Amino acid sequence: MFYSSSIEISRSALVHNIRFIKAQLRPGTRFSSVIKGNAYGHGIEEFGQLAYTCGVDHFSVFSADEAYRLHQVLPQKVTIMVMGYIDEQELKWAITNDIEFYVFSIDRLEQAANAARSLQKPARIHLDLETGMNRIGLDTKEIERAADMILKQPDAFEVVGVSTHYAGAESSENHDRVTEQLEQYHQAVRFLRQKGLKIKTLHTACSAAVMAYPETHLDMVRVGIMQYGFWPSPEIYQRYTGASTDRADPLKRLINWKSHVMSLKLVKAGEFIGYGKSFQAGCDMLVAAIPVGYAWGYSRSLSNQGQVLIRSHKAPVVGIVNMNVLMVDVTGIPGVALKDEVVLLGKQGNEHITVASFAELSTQLNYELLTRLPMNIPRTIVD
Ligand SMILES: *Cc1c(COP(=O)(O)O)cnc(C)c1O
Repeated sequence: MFYSSSIEISRSALVHNIRFIKAQLRPGTRFSSVIKGNAYGHGIEEFGQLAYTCGVDHFSVFSADEAYRLHQVLPQKVTIMVMGYIDEQELKWAITNDIEFYVFSIDRLEQAANAARSLQKPARIHLDLETGMNRIGLDTKEIERAADMILKQPDAFEVVGVSTHYAGAESSENHDRVTEQLEQYHQAVRFLRQKGLKIKTLHTACSAAVMAYPETHLDMVRVGIMQYGFWPSPEIYQRYTGASTDRADPLKRLINWKSHVMSLKLVKAGEFIGYGKSFQAGCDMLVAAIPVGYAWGYSRSLSNQGQVLIRSHKAPVVGIVNMNVLMVDVTGIPGVALKDEVVLLGKQGNEHITVASFAELSTQLNYELLTRLPMNIPRTIVD
């Protein structure tokens, strides 16, 4: 019942971000909410339900277990699409429950056909194409084989979409590669259609592609990081703010990660704080202990680097971040008391701790830091 920290998710921020993202799209381009990685740390169940109440009706997950968790809490009529891992045993569950999934190998196509035949229900598939990322996806030869197999078994498949993923749309360094990928993709789609395949939805774009390559939007976009209020890269952010007249960040972060002061201690000048000798008090100090450490996703690399908010002031981390405890310097903050709210990530008063600053300090990307927030920290929706 009691937790050493908790995460609040802001509904109004999500509404705001979805509105911003949709404004970048042509009318009619569908928005799929990407919620892999436990909804980028926001919690699949909590975020999925919230997004649904904000009008989202299409979700992209990485694996069948994530699809299962989402499916438990959302009405049947939303679309759930598995972009990655699904086990052979899970295919029947997926087909029965209208869960859509990517096919990126001939084996998977055969397995899906078998499952569909035994259920007498078509598998709703997306053909994921290799266009230059060299991760997963059907290559040219496999595309042809896949098309033949599908055309031979029209009752086993419904080809809902054809997809690909860009190898780094967040950096202009990859511009040539991305545009070549789009060209490859269109070529393959033409080929599939000439063969006689009916394809409903063309989709390729992630957040960065939505912002940097409007020509990639097509019928649907798959947006992850931006709906949570973070930019895929500083470059994409600067590109946008540099080009707009209002230079303010148009995205709002959903997450506020909070804890509280567990203990306060006076430390005499010259003493060391915490394990080892990484921090020596230069003067008499007041130090607060917070019951959060690297076991809770607060990176050890923020030792002597990170900051938290207490009484709307920034308090620097002193000493090494422990497994379950970190210490901060509150010497200059008036009136700090036991149980005071501590914000690890998010805002308090007029101060912010952003993941970007957090991530730069700990040399982790937004993506990595968010998804490392443990599942067992309770998430609550706030306005
Ligand atoms: C993660 C992912 C996305 C979303 O990426 P963002 O950068 O978070 O928008 C889209 N498509 C695929 C295949 C992905 O794996």
